[in-house]
This record gives sequence, structure tokens and C-alpha cells, in this order.
Amino acid sequence: MKKIVLLSAMAMTLMASSCSKTPQKAEADDFPYVVDRFADIEVLRYKVPDFDNLSVKQKALIYYLTQAALWGRDILWDQNNRYNLAIRDLLENVYTNYNGDKNSADWKAFDTYMKQVWFGNGIHHHYSTDKFVPGFSREFFEGQVAALPQVPENVTELMDVIFDPSIASKRVNQAEGEDLIATSANNMYAPGITQAEVEAYYSKLKKADDPTPISYGLNTRMNRDEKGNLYEEPYKLGGLYSSAIEHIVANLDSASQYAENPAQKKIINSLIEFYTTGDLATFDRYSIEWAEDTVSQVDFINGFIESYGDPMGMTGSWESIVNFKNIEASERTETLSANAQWFEDNSPVDSRFKKDKVKGVSAKVITAAILAGDSYPATPIGINLPNANWIRAAHGSKSVTLENITQAYDAASHGSGFNEEFVIDEPTRKLIDDYLFITDNLHTDLHECLGHGSGKLLPGVDPDALKAHGSTIEEARADLFALYYLADPKLLEIGLLDNPEAYKAEYYKYILNGMMTQLMRIEPGKNVEEAHMRNRKLIAEWCYEKGKENNVIEIVKKDGKSFIRINDYEALRGLFGQLLAEIQRVRSEGDYAAACELVEKYAVKVDPELHKEVLDRYASLSIAPYKGFVNPVYSLEKDNEGNITDVKVSYTEDYPSQMLRYSREYKGL
Ligand code: ZN
Repeated sequence: MKKIVLLSAMAMTLMASSCSKTPQKAEADDFPYVVDRFADIEVLRYKVPDFDNLSVKQKALIYYLTQAALWGRDILWDQNNRYNLAIRDLLENVYTNYNGDKNSADWKAFDTYMKQVWFGNGIHHHYSTDKFVPGFSREFFEGQVAALPQVPENVTELMDVIFDPSIASKRVNQAEGEDLIATSANNMYAPGITQAEVEAYYSKLKKADDPTPISYGLNTRMNRDEKGNLYEEPYKLGGLYSSAIEHIVANLDSASQYAENPAQKKIINSLIEFYTTGDLATFDRYSIEWAEDTVSQVDFINGFIESYGDPMGMTGSWESIVNFKNIEASERTETLSANAQWFEDNSPVDSRFKKDKVKGVSAKVITAAILAGDSYPATPIGINLPNANWIRAAHGSKSVTLENITQAYDAASHGSGFNEEFVIDEPTRKLIDDYLFITDNLHTDLHECLGHGSGKLLPGVDPDALKAHGSTIEEARADLFALYYLADPKLLEIGLLDNPEAYKAEYYKYILNGMMTQLMRIEPGKNVEEAHMRNRKLIAEWCYEKGKENNVIEIVKKDGKSFIRINDYEALRGLFGQLLAEIQRVRSEGDYAAACELVEKYAVKVDPELHKEVLDRYASLSIAPYKGFVNPVYSLEKDNEGNITDVKVSYTEDYPSQMLRYSREYKGL
């Protein structure tokens, strides 16, 4: 199950500047948001507002947690592909030793490739997971490598991995009918292991009717012993990745000295215990303690959390985000949480699939202080954890919106020309100008703090019953819950919106994105693969088809260009409600056949003509389809006795400097 909302680049490029109705709206300012631009990527900076208002103790806590975050970087690189760290070393050596012509085509292509590899935390694209194609020649690179003072022994093998398109071509392969493990280049399974073997291995381990199952495989690499049997090698102190984990643990230990309260100290110590033992029952205990701490202002994620990087959806990619609560903005999500039961009771879902009591839905708006591992440089804007279903049911979950990140996206996207190109007419653009920022944030809040937490599985249904389609269906469920309620008068009643028409901004954007503009992320001839993109396409295409009879959504041609027109917003809300009921049924009953049919019919295949049109129109705007961030730099200030007197934050580091420094200073493996 995936609980991260990946921001559609489009959602943010659509956000416009004159949005006076939203108190959290960014003011125009001269902060240098844009740091770098290459390939399909734009790198931004984010601010950490109100950091200076925290106590020195809180700042020290954050400082050590950010250190614990940065020390995990190499773990993720190695999880992504077994050659990544060696290739990074080689590339960075060439990058820093080069003294040739920096205007040559080969160098420019190399510079781009280096930046892409940094951004992907390895040789694969962070989103498509396709291997990057170098734009420079092998001869050029061989010449540069030959001039290095030291060359690794397996340099030819590394060159082959970089240049041969048939080697490690995809990090996470989700194609139906293929051996997902054998064809995926991630390093969570040793070479030669097949999907059938892994499925057999886990089906033996999993106990039927276990009410509190551990997250099998979350922190292990699957290996084969001499007899040919599979076994799991845990990521832990004294196990795999031990040298990096030592540094993480040491910094967590320092952080615990500055904990805000005893409960938080206990949480940090439980995490240390998990890293020490690798025991997944300890991880569950830690997750429960973490989920139940809704008091501390400073918070963090640190560990093997989301399983997007594993085609089987079991092993967690290492990540960390350190953050603190934005108290003012959190009032919005607290209002939603306070009404959670009302939303559950009034949803259009069959009552058999509803929770009688929605427990512990906690939600807050946070300020990210550091992004690391799988959340860096590309980062989610909303997170809902823990992932284990039984913990969510019994102890609730925490849901957060990273508002300083959305603010940076928004500020950086002004004046891109996107609305003018893709939005059908001036009134719709006006609606978007006025209401997209607030409704998009509300959509994220509803998705994270109510959507994922709503509904229940029928007794005996395996949470993994939907297999490869599980994440698409789960994301669709949360999105539909959010879409359905965005148009509900309840949001006006509880003071979160001030205009009954506001929801139309998000509805328009959602359909436009799902049917058209998200296609800019797909290469010509390819299908939609990533779960969040599939979910958006599924919802938009399903509503388009089911609303055809009443012309709810129309594709209009103007000067040879396609535009989405929504003729009946109320009917569209009805369709969202209908699909929500069906998707919840599929999830609650574990109806794999129905999930397959929905996904295959609506979520995967791309109309090549429309696709080409979107790519052409998008190219004319030269907007980067993907964005990510550099982190601020924190430095400790101490008095003569060595006591921490302050932590300073600076925003001046550029993208290559930060990447090279991280490689140097946080060399965990
Ligand atoms: Zn989600």
C-alpha cells in the first residue's frame, strides 16, 4: 500500500498568482527558488519558515535528526541498483577532475547525465524508472576515465552498465505477465531470483488469519544460499548496510538527548532498537508509538518505509523527512480530522465497507526541514503513515501536508504559460487562479487524512489481494474520496471554503491532468505505468466514458488543439461518488478480477495522437515535467563549554555542490 501523494507537476504549474482568498498563499518574493535546470528536471529551493522561532532545544533535535537523515543516502543508492555507488564514484571523479572544454557537446551531455544520476539516486529515472541514456560517447568517457589518478577494477563492467541499453534497463518493472523480479534492476533481490520463487517463499511465511502481521520483507534483501534456497538478509547493525546504519543510530542517539518529551525519546529509542535488531515486530511497536505521538512539534520519518521501489511492493526504500508542525495552517487539517466520522458516515460507499468508528485520524500541516533518501531530491507533498493496515485500524495514522514544499512549487511556477495553453477559456482560468491553490491543498488533506483512512476490508480479505494493482486502486480510492467531498457543502459549513463553486477549479484540473496533461511525462509509444498516474487516468477516463450519454465531459477542438470542457460539474461529482463506491467494493472484497479490468481498460493505454499533441504543446512551453529540491544547510553554534547555543540555516548551496558534499561527508557505504 502506498501512502504518498506524488505531486503532479501540472497541479503546481496550474497554480496561479492572484489568489487572495487563501491565507496560506505565497506572497511574491525574491527568494531564489529555481536552482538548476537540466533534461526533464527543475531543481528548486524551499524555505523553512519559522525555524528561527523554535527553541534551541528543538533546533538541536532537528539538527541531529537531519544528520541521521543524510547518513542514509548511500543505502537508497545501493537498494536502487547494485552498481549505483560505484558508478556515482566514477562519474563524480570524472566530473571533478575534468579540465577540458566545458562548451563541448560531450561535456555538456556528461554534465546533464551526472545531474540526472544524482536526481535519480542512481542510473534510473526516479519516476519512470527507465535507465538514463547518456548523450555523450563511450570514447569520450573512456578518455576521461583513463586520465583519472585511480580507476576501479571493474571499470569495463561499469561502462557496460552505463552504455549498454540491454543491461538493467528498468529499475521497477510492473508490466503485467512478465517476471517482475527478474526484469527489474533494483537491488532488493539478488540476481537470478524469480517472482515465482519469492511468492512461494512469502506464502509459506505468511500465516492465515494473523490479525497483526509484520510487514514481511520490509527491511531485507532476498538472497540465495549454497543449497539454492532463498533467505532474507536484514538491513541492520551488523547486517547489510551496517556502516551507514551506525551513523544513523549515533545521530538518533544524539537527537534523543534533545527530545521534546519522554514519549518522543521513547520513539527515537524504539527506532534505534529496530535498527539494532532488524526485528519487524519492534518496527511495528515503533510505528504505533510514532502514530500515537500527536503532541510533539518536531517529527520525523526515518527508515525503510514506502515500497514503490520493489515491484512486489514489500521491501521499503530508505528515506527520511524531518519536519515541524506549522501550527497555524494545521487548523485546516484538524478541522477535517475532527469531522472524520461525519465524512465516513456520509460517503456514497456501501455501509458494509464503512468503518463504524474512524479512529485516530490525525492530520497536520508541516514544514519540512530536510528531505533525504527516497524523498530527495524529488519529494511527496503529502504523507500518510504507518502503512500497516492493522496498525492504522487499531491505532490510527498520521497524515501530513508539506506546505513549505507546495509553496515553493507554487512560487516557482508563476508565469509558465501553462493555463493559457491548456485551460479551455478565460472563466475557467479565473476559477483556477482564484481557487486551485486552496482546493488542491484541500484535496491533498482529504486524500491523506480521510481518504486512505476510510473504509475497511471485509473479514478474511488479504490486504495484498489486489497484487500489482493494489497501489493504483488504493490511490484511486483516496483521490475519489477527496474529489467527492471537495464539492460537499460541508466544507463551507466548517469554514474551509468560502465559495460553493470553488471545487470546480480542482475538478477541471483533475480531469485535464488525468486525460491529457500528465501524458507529458510519458515517452511516445509507452503506456502509463506509475500507480498515481494510472489512478488519475482511471478516474478521468472512467468518468469521461460513463458521462458520455449526458455529455458531462467533452473534448473540444479549437484551432486543431484539444481542450477539456466540463459541461456538468454536479453530474461529475455524482460519477466520482459512483466510482468511489465501486473502488471501495473492489478493495474491501479484494476483487482482483475487477481491479484488473478497471486498470487495464482505463488506466494504462495511451491514445498516441492525443499523446503527441500534448507533448508538442508542452514542449513549446519548456516547463520541466519533474521538480525536486536542494536542502538548506544547517550548522551548529556552540559556546566555549561545547553547549549548543543555536542552529543556523542557510539557503545558498547549489545543486552540484550539495550532491558532491553529500557524497563526501555522508559516505555511509
Ligand atoms: Zn495516497
